[in-house]
Amino acid sequence: MDAPVNTVIWFRRDLRLTDHPALDAAVAAAVRSGGRVLALFIADPRLTIPSGSNRLDHLRACLEALAADGVPLVVRRGDPAAVLAEIVAGIGASAVYCSVDFGPYGRRRDDRVADRLRADGCDLHAVDSPYVLPPGTVRKGDGSPFKVFTPFSRVWAQTALSHAPGERCRPGDVPWLTSVDHEGIASGIGEAVGRTAALPVAGERAAAERLKHFVRHHLRTYHEVRNLPAADATSRLSADLKFGVVHPRQLLAVAAHHPGEGARVFRNELCWRDFYADVLWHRPETARHEFDDRMASMHHDTGAEADRRFEAWRTGTTGYPFIDAGMRQLLAEGWMHNRVRMAVASFLVKDLHLDWRRGARWFMKELVDGDLASNQHGWQWTAGTGTDAAPYFRVFNPITQGRKFDPDGTYIRRYLPELAHLDTNHVHQPWLAPPTLLDAPGRATYPPPIVEHLAERDEALARYREVRADGG
Ligand code: FAD
Repeated sequence: MDAPVNTVIWFRRDLRLTDHPALDAAVAAAVRSGGRVLALFIADPRLTIPSGSNRLDHLRACLEALAADGVPLVVRRGDPAAVLAEIVAGIGASAVYCSVDFGPYGRRRDDRVADRLRADGCDLHAVDSPYVLPPGTVRKGDGSPFKVFTPFSRVWAQTALSHAPGERCRPGDVPWLTSVDHEGIASGIGEAVGRTAALPVAGERAAAERLKHFVRHHLRTYHEVRNLPAADATSRLSADLKFGVVHPRQLLAVAAHHPGEGARVFRNELCWRDFYADVLWHRPETARHEFDDRMASMHHDTGAEADRRFEAWRTGTTGYPFIDAGMRQLLAEGWMHNRVRMAVASFLVKDLHLDWRRGARWFMKELVDGDLASNQHGWQWTAGTGTDAAPYFRVFNPITQGRKFDPDGTYIRRYLPELAHLDTNHVHQPWLAPPTLLDAPGRATYPPPIVEHLAERDEALARYREVRADGG
């Protein structure tokens, strides 16, 4: 038998034990030679500093849940190449395993890490992916990437559904290496200063419970209720997917047992996640730059009045109840319903004429599921600068969106207590309510609309036409 080989499983966005090919490979390589496995998480300041306190705190909780499940995690802070070089030398490891990172920064970092480790005689094995199908693999017949969702989804579905999830690793059976010093999870991750949102319970077990609840109560009717924010009838698994506490393969496998339109539409939503990762993989610059180059010259408002409007949007005080309820949900929970994400993004870009990047940055700061590909391209889709020929002239009406998707105002009342007493008609347009109803003594006041939607809609359309030379 060869000399024992120690390996490292470098956890990143894959904080689980079930269906984890990189973990399985790290364990198999060590066990084969009688070596040991080090479980490592590196708090990379390039990623932790821009994370808002909601996401950072949830990351910490996910790591704690993994440790509680029996993984003796070592958490180190610093540049991954330097941290790994030191660790690998210290434990005599000859291989580091991780799941592939397809993001623009992650790709550059992993190239750098691989070079550094190779120089020290250690290999970086990047296996599997956080997606059903790895970005870059779903292509048109001529090999070029898709720019539109529907044809992408057809090709995706041909293979996506055949990928069965793997087994759960039993941490009690793994020869862990536990002799490496570290600072503990909380201090390794760093302080999540000022978190005020109520976050979901973190970890694999909590995600399994969320999935069970969703399948039992909402999957069958998902296609009918997923657009109703008050129903709370979506899976709420986005943060679990973000941190890889659950793999989308597992969700597809569960959905496969439930024929019907609800499961089909749910699968389609998971495909959107793969699609946006694919788009970002092919066009990494679109994390900051318009996917549609023509839109880059679009005029956005700046200055003191623009700042005042952004502040009203951010704090949920625009005077449009459906918009404000969404922004307050984000502040309260670090999460917002998809329908409302679209409405508030449209409002920022098309009613307030602010740069989509400004809104996307705020989302990335507050969202516990904040994900570069889904967020930037969700924003670009809404702003009419992105994929899918999303028609630029589609301007969400903040009042009719509320009336259609929150008809009795339950969602609005949940997040805007100052409007809770209004009847269903006035709750969508409080400025039409008699003043005595709005300004009762002791009741928090609600602001009048910050802008007039129909006038701003015309302004937005004029600006869009200006930059689209083809008029299309
Ligand atoms: P479900 O309805 O249960 O859907 C299941 C899963 O499918 C989600 O968890 C998610 O992984 C995926 N999914 C659903 N809709 C989309 C979509 N439109 N695009 C990509 N994936 C989707 N999602 C994020 O995960 N992170 C983000 O930072 C993010 N930012 C967004 C910003 C904007 C402006 C918009 C319009 C959408 C954004 N989304 C983002 C997509 C979507 O809003 C969330 O994934 C969804 O609301 C999460 O709730 P859920 O898990 O209950 O979703």
